[in-house]
Amino acid sequence: MAQILAPSSQWQMRIARNSAPASPMTAKMWSSLVLKQNKKGTAKSSAKFRVFAVKSENGTINRMEDLLNLDLTPYTDSFIAEYIWIGGSGIDLRSKSRTISKPIEHPSELPKWNYDGSSTGQAPGEDSEVILYPQAIFKDPFRGGNNILVMCDTYTPQGEPIPTNKRHRAAEIFSNKKVVDEVPWFGIEQEYTLLQTNVKWPLGWPVGGYPGPQGPYYCAAGADKSFGRDISDAHYKACLYAGVNVSGTNGEVMPGQWEYQVGPSVGIDAGDHIWISRYILERITEQAGVVLSLDPKPIEGDWNGAGCHTNYSTKTMREEGGYEVIKKAILNLSLRHKEHISAYGEGNERRLTGKHETASIDTFSWGVANRGCSIRVGRETEKQGKGYLEDRRPASNMDPYVVTGPTG
Ligand code: ADP
Ligand code: MN
Ligand code: MN
Ligand code: MN
Repeated sequence: MAQILAPSSQWQMRIARNSAPASPMTAKMWSSLVLKQNKKGTAKSSAKFRVFAVKSENGTINRMEDLLNLDLTPYTDSFIAEYIWIGGSGIDLRSKSRTISKPIEHPSELPKWNYDGSSTGQAPGEDSEVILYPQAIFKDPFRGGNNILVMCDTYTPQGEPIPTNKRHRAAEIFSNKKVVDEVPWFGIEQEYTLLQTNVKWPLGWPVGGYPGPQGPYYCAAGADKSFGRDISDAHYKACLYAGVNVSGTNGEVMPGQWEYQVGPSVGIDAGDHIWISRYILERITEQAGVVLSLDPKPIEGDWNGAGCHTNYSTKTMREEGGYEVIKKAILNLSLRHKEHISAYGEGNERRLTGKHETASIDTFSWGVANRGCSIRVGRETEKQGKGYLEDRRPASNMDPYVVTGPTG
Protein backbone atom coordinates (compact mmCIF):
# COMPACT_ATOMS: atom_id res chain seq x y z
CA MET A 1 0.00 0.00 0.00
CA ALA A 2 3.06 2.23 0.10
CA GLN A 3 2.34 3.75 -3.26
CA ILE A 4 -0.82 5.43 -1.97
CA LEU A 5 1.25 7.16 0.64
CA ALA A 6 3.17 9.04 -2.01
CA PRO A 7 2.30 12.74 -2.20
CA SER A 8 -0.52 13.30 -4.62
CA SER A 9 0.32 14.31 -8.12
CA GLN A 10 -0.90 17.87 -7.95
CA TRP A 11 2.07 19.02 -5.93
CA GLN A 12 4.48 17.59 -8.40
CA MET A 13 2.75 18.63 -11.54
CA ARG A 14 5.02 20.57 -13.73
CA ILE A 15 3.22 22.79 -16.13
CA ALA A 16 5.92 22.90 -18.68
CA ARG A 17 5.36 24.50 -22.02
CA ASN A 18 4.63 22.06 -24.81
CA SER A 19 4.79 19.19 -22.36
CA ALA A 20 1.63 17.64 -23.72
CA PRO A 21 1.91 16.07 -27.14
CA ALA A 22 -0.24 17.75 -29.75
CA SER A 23 -3.43 15.77 -29.81
CA PRO A 24 -4.55 14.26 -33.11
CA MET A 25 -8.00 15.67 -32.37
CA THR A 26 -6.64 19.16 -32.62
CA ALA A 27 -5.03 18.60 -35.97
CA LYS A 28 -8.20 17.07 -37.32
CA MET A 29 -10.41 19.75 -35.93
CA TRP A 30 -8.44 22.43 -37.61
CA SER A 31 -8.04 20.66 -40.91
CA SER A 32 -10.98 22.55 -42.33
CA LEU A 33 -9.55 25.87 -41.32
CA VAL A 34 -6.64 27.68 -42.84
CA LEU A 35 -4.65 28.99 -39.98
CA LYS A 36 -1.92 31.48 -40.40
CA GLN A 37 0.24 32.47 -37.55
CA ASN A 38 3.72 33.72 -37.20
CA LYS A 39 5.16 32.96 -33.84
CA LYS A 40 8.90 33.17 -34.23
CA GLY A 41 10.26 36.66 -34.60
CA THR A 42 7.07 38.34 -33.44
CA ALA A 43 6.65 39.68 -29.97
CA LYS A 44 4.10 37.51 -28.15
CA SER A 45 1.90 40.42 -27.20
CA SER A 46 1.52 41.54 -30.81
CA ALA A 47 1.58 38.07 -32.37
CA LYS A 48 -1.08 37.97 -35.03
CA PHE A 49 -2.86 35.06 -36.42
CA ARG A 50 -5.76 34.96 -38.73
CA VAL A 51 -8.32 32.25 -39.05
CA PHE A 52 -10.19 31.82 -42.27
CA ALA A 53 -13.29 29.74 -42.10
CA VAL A 54 -13.53 27.41 -45.03
CA LYS A 55 -16.67 25.54 -45.83
CA SER A 56 -16.58 21.90 -44.95
CA GLU A 57 -18.21 19.32 -47.15
CA ASN A 58 -21.67 19.77 -45.78
CA GLY A 59 -21.24 23.53 -45.64
CA THR A 60 -21.15 23.93 -41.90
CA ILE A 61 -18.40 24.13 -39.34
CA ASN A 62 -18.97 24.04 -35.66
CA ARG A 63 -16.58 26.88 -34.90
CA MET A 64 -17.55 27.04 -31.24
CA GLU A 65 -16.52 23.48 -30.58
CA ASP A 66 -13.28 24.03 -32.49
CA LEU A 67 -12.46 26.99 -30.30
CA LEU A 68 -13.37 25.20 -27.09
CA ASN A 69 -11.02 22.38 -28.05
CA LEU A 70 -8.28 24.67 -29.30
CA ASP A 71 -4.88 23.80 -27.87
CA LEU A 72 -3.20 27.08 -26.99
CA THR A 73 0.29 25.72 -26.39
CA PRO A 74 1.69 26.28 -29.90
CA TYR A 75 0.66 29.91 -29.75
CA THR A 76 1.36 31.18 -26.28
CA ASP A 77 3.07 30.36 -23.01
CA SER A 78 0.01 31.62 -21.20
CA PHE A 79 -2.52 29.24 -19.72
CA ILE A 80 -5.80 29.59 -17.87
CA ALA A 81 -6.19 29.05 -14.13
CA GLU A 82 -9.72 28.54 -12.81
CA TYR A 83 -9.69 29.81 -9.21
CA ILE A 84 -12.27 27.87 -7.19
CA TRP A 85 -13.58 28.68 -3.72
CA ILE A 86 -16.41 27.88 -1.32
CA GLY A 87 -19.15 30.52 -1.14
CA GLY A 88 -21.22 31.91 1.72
CA SER A 89 -23.52 28.93 2.27
CA GLY A 90 -20.47 26.80 2.98
CA ILE A 91 -21.52 24.35 0.28
CA ASP A 92 -21.81 26.44 -2.90
CA LEU A 93 -18.81 26.48 -5.19
CA ARG A 94 -17.75 29.57 -7.11
CA SER A 95 -14.97 30.10 -9.62
CA LYS A 96 -13.45 32.61 -11.99
CA SER A 97 -10.66 32.47 -14.53
CA ARG A 98 -7.42 34.30 -15.05
CA THR A 99 -4.49 34.12 -17.40
CA ILE A 100 -1.14 33.03 -16.01
CA SER A 101 1.82 33.88 -18.19
CA LYS A 102 4.60 31.70 -16.78
CA PRO A 103 4.80 27.98 -15.97
CA ILE A 104 4.51 27.24 -12.27
CA GLU A 105 5.28 24.22 -10.15
CA HIS A 106 3.55 24.98 -6.86
CA PRO A 107 0.32 26.79 -5.90
CA SER A 108 2.33 29.36 -3.92
CA GLU A 109 3.73 30.67 -7.21
CA LEU A 110 0.24 31.67 -8.32
CA PRO A 111 -0.89 35.19 -7.51
CA LYS A 112 -3.40 35.80 -4.75
CA TRP A 113 -6.63 37.20 -6.14
CA ASN A 114 -9.86 38.71 -4.89
CA TYR A 115 -13.58 38.63 -5.50
CA ASP A 116 -16.73 40.47 -4.51
CA GLY A 117 -17.69 38.83 -1.23
CA SER A 118 -20.91 40.86 -1.07
CA SER A 119 -22.18 38.77 -4.00
CA THR A 120 -21.50 35.46 -2.26
CA GLY A 121 -22.80 36.36 1.20
CA GLN A 122 -19.28 36.61 2.60
CA ALA A 123 -18.64 40.34 3.04
CA PRO A 124 -20.55 43.62 3.38
CA GLY A 125 -20.94 45.81 0.28
CA GLU A 126 -18.87 48.67 1.68
CA ASP A 127 -15.88 46.42 2.36
CA SER A 128 -16.50 43.66 -0.14
CA GLU A 129 -13.11 42.25 -1.01
CA VAL A 130 -12.30 38.67 -0.08
CA ILE A 131 -8.80 37.44 -0.91
CA LEU A 132 -8.19 34.08 -2.58
CA TYR A 133 -5.07 32.12 -1.59
CA PRO A 134 -4.23 29.34 -4.11
CA GLN A 135 -3.73 26.09 -2.18
CA ALA A 136 -3.89 23.07 -4.49
CA ILE A 137 -3.55 22.62 -8.24
CA PHE A 138 -5.27 20.13 -10.53
CA LYS A 139 -5.28 19.72 -14.29
CA ASP A 140 -8.34 21.23 -15.96
CA PRO A 141 -10.27 18.42 -17.69
CA PHE A 142 -12.56 20.91 -19.43
CA ARG A 143 -10.00 23.19 -21.04
CA GLY A 144 -7.30 20.54 -21.32
CA GLY A 145 -3.74 21.45 -22.29
CA ASN A 146 -1.71 23.26 -19.64
CA ASN A 147 -4.78 24.81 -18.06
CA ILE A 148 -5.44 24.22 -14.39
CA LEU A 149 -8.06 24.18 -11.64
CA VAL A 150 -6.96 25.86 -8.43
CA MET A 151 -8.53 25.14 -5.05
CA CYS A 152 -8.36 28.33 -3.01
CA ASP A 153 -9.28 29.36 0.51
CA THR A 154 -10.52 32.75 1.58
CA TYR A 155 -9.19 35.59 3.73
CA THR A 156 -9.91 39.17 4.71
CA PRO A 157 -7.56 41.79 3.24
CA GLN A 158 -5.88 41.78 6.68
CA GLY A 159 -5.00 38.11 6.23
CA GLU A 160 -7.56 36.56 8.61
CA PRO A 161 -9.40 33.44 7.39
CA ILE A 162 -13.08 34.36 6.90
CA PRO A 163 -15.72 32.32 8.83
CA THR A 164 -16.52 29.98 5.91
CA ASN A 165 -12.83 29.16 5.48
CA LYS A 166 -12.71 25.78 7.22
CA ARG A 167 -9.58 24.74 5.35
CA HIS A 168 -7.29 27.03 7.30
CA ARG A 169 -7.59 25.23 10.64
CA ALA A 170 -7.69 21.81 9.04
CA ALA A 171 -4.39 22.56 7.26
CA GLU A 172 -2.89 23.69 10.58
CA ILE A 173 -3.86 20.43 12.25
CA PHE A 174 -2.62 18.31 9.36
CA SER A 175 0.78 20.01 9.47
CA ASN A 176 1.18 19.30 13.22
CA LYS A 177 4.09 16.90 13.61
CA LYS A 178 2.15 14.41 15.75
CA VAL A 179 -0.55 14.22 13.11
CA VAL A 180 1.92 14.04 10.22
CA ASP A 181 3.70 11.13 11.91
CA GLU A 182 0.41 9.20 12.13
CA VAL A 183 -0.17 9.62 8.34
CA PRO A 184 -3.98 9.92 8.59
CA TRP A 185 -5.80 8.33 5.69
CA PHE A 186 -9.31 9.25 4.63
CA GLY A 187 -11.50 7.43 2.12
CA ILE A 188 -14.64 9.44 1.48
CA GLU A 189 -17.74 7.99 -0.22
CA GLN A 190 -19.52 10.91 -1.84
CA GLU A 191 -23.16 10.16 -2.65
CA TYR A 192 -25.22 12.52 -4.80
CA THR A 193 -28.56 12.72 -6.55
CA LEU A 194 -29.24 13.83 -10.10
CA LEU A 195 -32.38 15.89 -10.71
CA GLN A 196 -34.25 16.79 -13.89
CA THR A 197 -33.59 20.49 -14.38
CA ASN A 198 -37.06 21.92 -14.73
CA VAL A 199 -38.98 19.85 -12.22
CA LYS A 200 -36.19 19.16 -9.68
CA TRP A 201 -37.31 15.53 -9.54
CA PRO A 202 -34.79 12.66 -9.71
CA LEU A 203 -33.43 11.57 -13.07
CA GLY A 204 -35.33 8.61 -14.47
CA TRP A 205 -38.37 9.18 -12.25
CA PRO A 206 -41.74 9.82 -13.90
CA VAL A 207 -42.62 13.48 -13.46
CA GLY A 208 -45.22 13.77 -10.75
CA GLY A 209 -44.86 10.09 -9.85
CA TYR A 210 -42.60 7.46 -8.37
CA PRO A 211 -40.57 4.57 -9.78
CA GLY A 212 -41.00 1.04 -8.45
CA PRO A 213 -39.69 0.49 -4.90
CA GLN A 214 -35.98 0.27 -4.11
CA GLY A 215 -34.27 -3.03 -4.70
CA PRO A 216 -33.34 -3.36 -8.37
CA TYR A 217 -31.36 -0.12 -8.72
CA TYR A 218 -28.19 -0.51 -6.58
CA CYS A 219 -25.19 -1.19 -8.87
CA ALA A 220 -27.66 -2.00 -11.65
CA ALA A 221 -27.48 -1.88 -15.44
CA GLY A 222 -30.38 -1.34 -17.82
CA ALA A 223 -32.51 1.50 -19.09
CA ASP A 224 -35.19 0.89 -16.46
CA LYS A 225 -32.76 0.72 -13.54
CA SER A 226 -29.76 2.96 -14.13
CA PHE A 227 -30.18 6.69 -14.70
CA GLY A 228 -27.26 9.04 -15.31
CA ARG A 229 -24.40 6.63 -15.90
CA ASP A 230 -22.87 8.95 -18.53
CA ILE A 231 -22.57 11.65 -15.92
CA SER A 232 -21.02 9.34 -13.36
CA ASP A 233 -18.56 8.00 -15.93
CA ALA A 234 -17.64 11.37 -17.43
CA HIS A 235 -17.02 12.61 -13.92
CA TYR A 236 -14.88 9.59 -13.06
CA LYS A 237 -12.59 10.12 -16.05
CA ALA A 238 -12.47 13.89 -15.63
CA CYS A 239 -11.38 13.42 -12.01
CA LEU A 240 -8.63 10.95 -12.88
CA TYR A 241 -7.42 13.33 -15.60
CA ALA A 242 -7.39 16.19 -13.11
CA GLY A 243 -5.34 14.21 -10.60
CA VAL A 244 -8.21 13.63 -8.16
CA ASN A 245 -7.71 10.41 -6.24
CA VAL A 246 -11.03 8.74 -7.14
CA SER A 247 -10.97 5.07 -6.20
CA GLY A 248 -14.31 3.92 -7.61
CA THR A 249 -17.96 4.64 -8.37
CA ASN A 250 -21.28 2.82 -8.06
CA GLY A 251 -24.96 3.29 -8.73
CA GLU A 252 -26.94 3.73 -5.51
CA VAL A 253 -30.02 2.21 -3.89
CA MET A 254 -32.29 5.12 -4.78
CA PRO A 255 -32.71 5.44 -8.54
CA GLY A 256 -30.93 8.57 -9.88
CA GLN A 257 -28.47 8.44 -7.00
CA TRP A 258 -24.74 7.70 -7.42
CA GLU A 259 -21.59 7.41 -5.38
CA TYR A 260 -17.89 7.85 -5.98
CA GLN A 261 -15.08 7.27 -3.53
CA VAL A 262 -12.06 9.49 -3.07
CA GLY A 263 -9.03 8.11 -1.30
CA PRO A 264 -7.32 6.97 0.66
CA SER A 265 -5.95 10.50 0.77
CA VAL A 266 -3.53 11.81 3.34
CA GLY A 267 -4.48 14.73 5.56
CA ILE A 268 -5.58 17.94 3.88
CA ASP A 269 -5.59 16.28 0.44
CA ALA A 270 -8.84 14.55 1.40
CA GLY A 271 -10.71 17.85 1.67
CA ASP A 272 -9.06 19.40 -1.38
CA HIS A 273 -9.82 16.37 -3.53
CA ILE A 274 -13.47 16.13 -2.44
CA TRP A 275 -14.08 19.82 -3.09
CA ILE A 276 -12.46 19.71 -6.54
CA SER A 277 -14.37 16.52 -7.38
CA ARG A 278 -17.61 18.31 -6.43
CA TYR A 279 -16.67 21.26 -8.61
CA ILE A 280 -16.00 18.93 -11.56
CA LEU A 281 -19.37 17.27 -10.93
CA GLU A 282 -21.13 20.65 -10.96
CA ARG A 283 -19.49 21.43 -14.30
CA ILE A 284 -20.37 18.08 -15.85
CA THR A 285 -23.99 18.19 -14.70
CA GLU A 286 -24.14 21.77 -16.00
CA GLN A 287 -23.07 20.53 -19.42
CA ALA A 288 -25.54 17.66 -19.27
CA GLY A 289 -28.41 19.96 -18.27
CA VAL A 290 -29.01 18.01 -15.08
CA VAL A 291 -29.10 19.45 -11.56
CA LEU A 292 -26.74 18.12 -8.90
CA SER A 293 -28.23 17.74 -5.43
CA LEU A 294 -26.16 17.09 -2.30
CA ASP A 295 -29.27 17.16 -0.11
CA PRO A 296 -28.96 14.37 2.52
CA LYS A 297 -32.57 13.28 1.99
CA PRO A 298 -33.74 14.54 -1.40
CA ILE A 299 -36.98 12.52 -1.38
CA GLU A 300 -39.00 11.91 1.76
CA GLY A 301 -40.32 8.47 2.54
CA ASP A 302 -39.04 5.03 1.72
CA TRP A 303 -36.06 6.24 -0.29
CA ASN A 304 -32.42 6.16 0.77
CA GLY A 305 -30.77 9.42 1.70
CA ALA A 306 -27.32 10.53 0.55
CA GLY A 307 -24.31 10.39 2.80
CA CYS A 308 -20.58 10.88 2.78
CA HIS A 309 -19.27 7.89 4.74
CA THR A 310 -15.80 8.75 5.94
CA ASN A 311 -13.32 5.88 6.29
CA TYR A 312 -10.42 6.67 8.54
CA SER A 313 -7.19 5.14 9.71
CA THR A 314 -3.91 6.16 11.24
CA LYS A 315 -0.55 4.47 10.92
CA THR A 316 -0.96 2.66 14.25
CA MET A 317 -4.46 1.46 13.25
CA ARG A 318 -2.98 -0.05 10.11
CA GLU A 319 -0.20 -1.84 11.99
CA GLU A 320 -0.21 -4.94 14.23
CA GLY A 321 -2.46 -4.35 17.22
CA GLY A 322 -4.33 -1.68 15.29
CA TYR A 323 -7.77 -3.00 16.21
CA GLU A 324 -7.22 -1.95 19.84
CA VAL A 325 -6.37 1.57 18.64
CA ILE A 326 -9.48 1.59 16.46
CA LYS A 327 -11.67 0.60 19.42
CA LYS A 328 -10.12 3.39 21.49
CA ALA A 329 -10.84 5.85 18.70
CA ILE A 330 -14.45 4.64 18.57
CA LEU A 331 -14.77 5.24 22.31
CA ASN A 332 -13.47 8.78 21.83
CA LEU A 333 -15.92 9.34 18.98
CA SER A 334 -18.78 8.13 21.19
CA LEU A 335 -18.00 10.78 23.81
CA ARG A 336 -18.41 13.59 21.29
CA HIS A 337 -21.37 12.26 19.27
CA LYS A 338 -23.52 15.42 19.54
CA GLU A 339 -20.67 17.74 18.66
CA HIS A 340 -19.75 15.68 15.62
CA ILE A 341 -23.35 15.37 14.44
CA SER A 342 -23.70 19.15 14.48
CA ALA A 343 -20.66 19.39 12.17
CA TYR A 344 -21.69 16.61 9.76
CA GLY A 345 -23.97 18.53 7.37
CA GLU A 346 -27.24 20.48 7.16
CA GLY A 347 -30.47 18.52 7.18
CA ASN A 348 -28.79 15.30 8.31
CA GLU A 349 -31.62 14.75 10.82
CA ARG A 350 -33.91 13.97 7.86
CA ARG A 351 -31.48 11.23 6.80
CA LEU A 352 -30.29 9.65 10.08
CA THR A 353 -33.60 8.05 10.99
CA GLY A 354 -32.39 4.58 11.89
CA LYS A 355 -33.83 3.26 8.63
CA HIS A 356 -32.30 2.93 5.16
CA GLU A 357 -28.84 1.81 6.31
CA THR A 358 -28.45 4.58 8.88
CA ALA A 359 -28.28 4.77 12.65
CA SER A 360 -30.57 7.13 14.59
CA ILE A 361 -29.13 10.62 14.98
CA ASP A 362 -29.77 10.49 18.74
CA THR A 363 -27.70 7.45 19.62
CA PHE A 364 -24.13 6.44 19.01
CA SER A 365 -23.53 2.84 18.03
CA TRP A 366 -20.85 0.75 16.43
CA GLY A 367 -20.54 -2.73 15.07
CA VAL A 368 -18.65 -5.07 12.81
CA ALA A 369 -20.14 -5.21 9.30
CA ASN A 370 -23.32 -3.52 10.59
CA ARG A 371 -24.65 -0.84 8.24
CA GLY A 372 -27.23 0.27 10.77
CA CYS A 373 -24.53 1.64 13.10
CA SER A 374 -22.95 5.08 13.42
CA ILE A 375 -19.52 3.49 13.02
CA ARG A 376 -18.88 0.31 11.08
CA VAL A 377 -15.74 -1.78 11.29
CA GLY A 378 -15.20 -4.08 8.33
CA ARG A 379 -14.98 -7.86 8.74
CA GLU A 380 -11.51 -7.74 7.26
CA THR A 381 -10.32 -5.27 9.89
CA GLU A 382 -11.68 -7.49 12.68
CA LYS A 383 -10.09 -10.57 11.13
CA GLN A 384 -6.71 -8.97 10.50
CA GLY A 385 -6.68 -7.17 13.84
CA LYS A 386 -5.85 -3.92 12.04
CA GLY A 387 -7.29 -1.66 9.38
CA TYR A 388 -9.76 1.23 9.53
CA LEU A 389 -13.15 2.40 10.71
CA GLU A 390 -16.06 3.86 8.74
CA ASP A 391 -17.98 6.82 10.14
CA ARG A 392 -21.37 6.49 8.42
CA ARG A 393 -22.88 9.63 9.91
CA PRO A 394 -21.62 12.49 7.68
CA ALA A 395 -24.20 13.75 5.17
CA SER A 396 -23.58 14.17 1.45
CA ASN A 397 -23.36 17.95 1.94
CA MET A 398 -20.77 17.84 4.73
CA ASP A 399 -17.64 19.98 4.56
CA PRO A 400 -14.71 17.54 4.33
CA TYR A 401 -12.36 20.12 5.85
CA VAL A 402 -14.56 19.99 8.98
CA VAL A 403 -15.20 16.25 9.05
CA THR A 404 -11.55 15.31 8.52
CA GLY A 405 -10.22 18.21 10.57
CA PRO A 406 -11.41 20.11 13.60
CA THR A 407 -15.12 19.83 14.45
CA GLY A 408 -15.11 21.89 17.62
P1 ADP B 1 -18.41 0.68 1.39
O1 ADP B 1 -18.19 -0.79 1.52
O2 ADP B 1 -18.74 1.32 2.69
O3 ADP B 1 -19.37 1.04 0.31
P2 ADP B 1 -16.37 1.87 -0.35
O4 ADP B 1 -15.62 0.80 -1.06
O5 ADP B 1 -17.40 2.59 -1.12
O6 ADP B 1 -16.95 1.26 1.02
O7 ADP B 1 -15.37 2.96 0.18
C1 ADP B 1 -14.32 2.68 1.05
C2 ADP B 1 -13.29 3.80 0.99
O8 ADP B 1 -12.36 3.62 2.05
C3 ADP B 1 -12.50 3.84 -0.30
O9 ADP B 1 -12.33 5.17 -0.73
C4 ADP B 1 -11.16 3.24 0.13
O10 ADP B 1 -10.11 3.71 -0.66
C5 ADP B 1 -11.05 3.75 1.55
N1 ADP B 1 -10.09 2.99 2.40
C6 ADP B 1 -9.62 1.74 2.21
N2 ADP B 1 -8.73 1.42 3.17
C7 ADP B 1 -8.65 2.51 3.99
C8 ADP B 1 -7.90 2.79 5.18
N3 ADP B 1 -7.05 1.91 5.72
N4 ADP B 1 -8.07 4.01 5.75
C9 ADP B 1 -8.92 4.90 5.24
N5 ADP B 1 -9.64 4.68 4.13
C10 ADP B 1 -9.52 3.50 3.50
MN1 MN C 1 -19.52 2.82 -0.76
MN1 MN D 1 -23.20 4.26 -0.73
MN1 MN E 1 -19.79 3.05 3.16
